[in-house]
Amino acid sequence: MKKQVVTRYAPSPTGYMHVGNLRTALYSYLTARKNGGKFILRIEDTDQARFVADATKIIIDTLHTAGLKYDEGPDIGGPNGPYTQSERKAIYMQYAQDLVDQGKAYYCFCQKRNADEDCEAIVVDPCADLPLEEAKKKVAEGASFTIRHRVKKTGTTTFVDNVFGEITVQNDTLHDIILIKSDGMPTYNFAHIIDDHLMGVTHVLRGSEFITSTPQFIQLHNDLGFEVPQFYHLPLIMGKNEAGEVSKLSKRHGAVAFSDLVALGYLPQAIINYISLLGWHPADTDQEIFSLSELEQVFDTANIRKSAAIFDYDKLKWVNSQYILKMTPAEFKEYAMPYIRNTLTRDVFDVDKLCEILQPRVQIFSEIAEKIEFFQDLVDFDINLLFNPKKKTDEQNSKEILSLALQKLQSVELSDWHNDVLYQQLEDICVQTGLKPVSVMWVVRIALSGQTVTVGGATEIMQILGKSETMIRLQTTLNRL
Ligand code: GLU
Repeated sequence: MKKQVVTRYAPSPTGYMHVGNLRTALYSYLTARKNGGKFILRIEDTDQARFVADATKIIIDTLHTAGLKYDEGPDIGGPNGPYTQSERKAIYMQYAQDLVDQGKAYYCFCQKRNADEDCEAIVVDPCADLPLEEAKKKVAEGASFTIRHRVKKTGTTTFVDNVFGEITVQNDTLHDIILIKSDGMPTYNFAHIIDDHLMGVTHVLRGSEFITSTPQFIQLHNDLGFEVPQFYHLPLIMGKNEAGEVSKLSKRHGAVAFSDLVALGYLPQAIINYISLLGWHPADTDQEIFSLSELEQVFDTANIRKSAAIFDYDKLKWVNSQYILKMTPAEFKEYAMPYIRNTLTRDVFDVDKLCEILQPRVQIFSEIAEKIEFFQDLVDFDINLLFNPKKKTDEQNSKEILSLALQKLQSVELSDWHNDVLYQQLEDICVQTGLKPVSVMWVVRIALSGQTVTVGGATEIMQILGKSETMIRLQTTLNRL
């Protein structure tokens, strides 16, 4: 029988979710779903010095908002719990002590070396050769210790990464890494191996920064007698600055946290869609818009690329605009309303019309503010904007257009205050004066908005503003002539 595919997303709670982490979560989720397998969330919080309050909640909320449902996790439990590493301390200690008893690990009492986990200065550690009985005695007496892996230093270690290919390292480049720290907590290096084994993880997908440590992990798997999972190290995500220089994606390039992107007005599903393409694309198609359920069908680890992906904010905006276009008017309104209300505190006559003209014109919701500002107040704009030779408008005909518009619009009933009726009124002015529609529309639109570029034309703006505000604005502008 084929083994069930089990993947996991195993973040260290840092307080925010970088898009790179979200991509790891997404690919792990998709690998499980595509294969009818299981997806686990595990919190790797053994580095208590880096503890961030609420960090786990942020991870859980992000996965929830993104639609990445996990089958087992800290908040929902499961047969392999607990799913938070700090609650599994005793499990790791037991495995470490078993390794010590087998001579595959040893107690280390070197204060200086242990103080700095990464310090590998002592190549030959005197503790490595301490007789076990003696070491155990020191432990019983209360000496501070770490437990280190006794790594094999001769020969080579080879493993296959399913993205980057076969990798071989000389074992003399490997170190006796710490498995258990002096506070009794395991290191990430040790804990994730124990957990992946106990949780039945078959496929490990993670950032490529872990690839150089993997040979070390392979030795640990072997010493523990654990089956080695399938590895997929994911390519780096890079950002480009204005000068075109490429470096690891960071805040310098723009928002990188999922929550910040959402706050900027990107839709969670658009973010997920875009992130899915950072390092992966299905073969034989140019399709770029994929719903999560489509991704669950088409995702294939075989198409993960090893070249670094560049995070392109313009592309993300385009993807987002595709999702906005697909929204129903009601969905758009619900999403847009908070942004509209943030800018527009005065009542507008027709908010549905406002939404209708915005929907095809915004790529992200935060663009709404600048687009609708003029609906709030008519600012004291440069009156010369009205006079435009290309539109055949000047001071004289501007006056005429505005006076006639005021006269005509006065008689329009509130119940008729709609684009078509309003358009008819302005067309009548053209018939009456012999002026071209383009001239009339230009003068009226600028008189209402104070801007040469607006979302919506003159009559749409009138419909949105409502009769009384329209009349006030036209009169105000006319008074300036
Ligand atoms: N806790 C590690 C991290 O947050 C996970 C690495 C792994 O997936 O093995 O990057």
